[in-house]
Amino acid sequence: MQFNIAVLPGDGIGVDVCTEAVKVLRTVGKKYGHEFKLKEGLVGGIAIDETGEPLPKETLKICRISQAVMLGAVGGTKWDDPNAKTRPENGLLELRKKMGLFANLRPVKVFPMLINGTNLKPEIIDGVDFIFIRELTGGLYFGKPKKRWETAGGRKAVDSMLYSEQEIDRIVRVGFELARTRGKKLISVDKANVLESSRLWRTVAMEVAGDYPDVEIEHMLVDACAMRIIQNPKYLDVLVTENTFGDILTDEASMLAGSMGMLASASLAGVPQEGKAIPGLYEPIHGSAPRRAGLDMANPIAMILSTAMMLRYSLCLNEEAKAVEDAVESVLNHGYRTYDIMDEGKTKVGTARMGDLISKAIEEK
Ligand code: NAD
Repeated sequence: MQFNIAVLPGDGIGVDVCTEAVKVLRTVGKKYGHEFKLKEGLVGGIAIDETGEPLPKETLKICRISQAVMLGAVGGTKWDDPNAKTRPENGLLELRKKMGLFANLRPVKVFPMLINGTNLKPEIIDGVDFIFIRELTGGLYFGKPKKRWETAGGRKAVDSMLYSEQEIDRIVRVGFELARTRGKKLISVDKANVLESSRLWRTVAMEVAGDYPDVEIEHMLVDACAMRIIQNPKYLDVLVTENTFGDILTDEASMLAGSMGMLASASLAGVPQEGKAIPGLYEPIHGSAPRRAGLDMANPIAMILSTAMMLRYSLCLNEEAKAVEDAVESVLNHGYRTYDIMDEGKTKVGTARMGDLISKAIEEK
C-alpha cells in the first residue's frame, strides 16, 4: 500500500528522534511491502528563522494532503524572548487547531524491564497501564481574552479557561469510547470545586454518561489526580481532562515510565475506531531538550512508539504497529538503554544505535 506522510522534525532533539522514527518506518515499509511517501516541512523555531512564521503555509499544505503527520518537537532558548512577536509553540498550537486535532491520546505504560529505573517503588509501578485523553484545542491555551497590559498600579496579564459544551461533549465521548475498549471505567478530571469551566465540564460529562450505561464514570479533582498518579497509579485506566491539566499531569505520569523519552502521543480529529483510518498528528510528549540536541543522546523511543500509534490509528496497519512495539520491547529486554533510562549492568547506546537496533528487531521478526 502507499501512504503520504508529512514529517516535521522541528527543533532540538526533535530532529534527532524524527530521523530514527523515519528509519523505523522505512524498515516497516520494506518488511511489509508498503511505500511511505514522506514530505518534510518546517515548523517551530527553524520555521521562524527561515520564513518568519512558526507554521508556514507550505507546511500546513503538506500536512493537509497527508494521511498523517509525524512531528519531533519545537522550541529552544534561542526563541525564548517573552517579548518576541511569535514563538515556536504557536506553530504547534496552530497546526493542532487548523487540523481540528482536539483529542490527544497519551498512553502511560510501564515496561517491566524498566521498573527499577524510576524514582518510584517497583511494587507501585509494576503493571501500570493507563491512557490520558487530553483536550487539545480549547481551554487556557486558546481562550480569549489572553493579553498583557499596563495599569497605573503595575502590569497585569490574563488567560481564559474557556470551554463550550460542544467541545466538552466531543472529548468526553472519546473517553467513553476508549473506556469501552478497555476496563469500562472512565475518570473525568476537573477542578469543579473552584472553576466554573470545570463545573460545566462535569455537568456535560454526566450528561454524556447517559449514552454509555456500560461504562462507569468517576469524577476526580485535578489535585487528587496528581496525588493518585504517584500514590496508586494502577488504579487508573482511562482518564479524560482539559488541555492544561492534561499537559501537566502527563509530564508527571511520564516519570512512571522512567523518562519523558518513553511517552508517545497521538492527536486525532475524532474517535479512534478499529479498521477506520483517522487523520492524526503523532509526536512524543517531550520537548526539544536543546542541551541534548545533535549529541546522539536523546531517547527516540517516544517518537518511535508515536509512529506505531500512527500505523494503528491513521493507516490501519495493526500488525505493523504491533511489530514496532514488540521491537522496542525486545531491544529493552536485551538490555539496551539510552542515557535517560540507563541502569546498572545495561548497555548504554546513543540515539542512532537505538534506532538501528529497533529497526533490526523488526527485520528479524
Ligand atoms: P523537555 O521535554 O525538552 O526536557 C525536559 C527534560 O527531559 C530535560 O532534562 C531533557 O533532557 C529530558 N528529555 C526530554 N526528552 C528526552 C528524550 N527524548 N531523551 C532523553 N531525555 C529527554 O522540556 P523543557 O526542557 O521544559 O523544554 C525545552 C524546550 O522544549 C522549550 O523550548 C519548550 O517550550 C519546548 N517544548 C516543546 C514541546 C513540544 O514540541 N511538544 C513540549 C514541551 C516543551
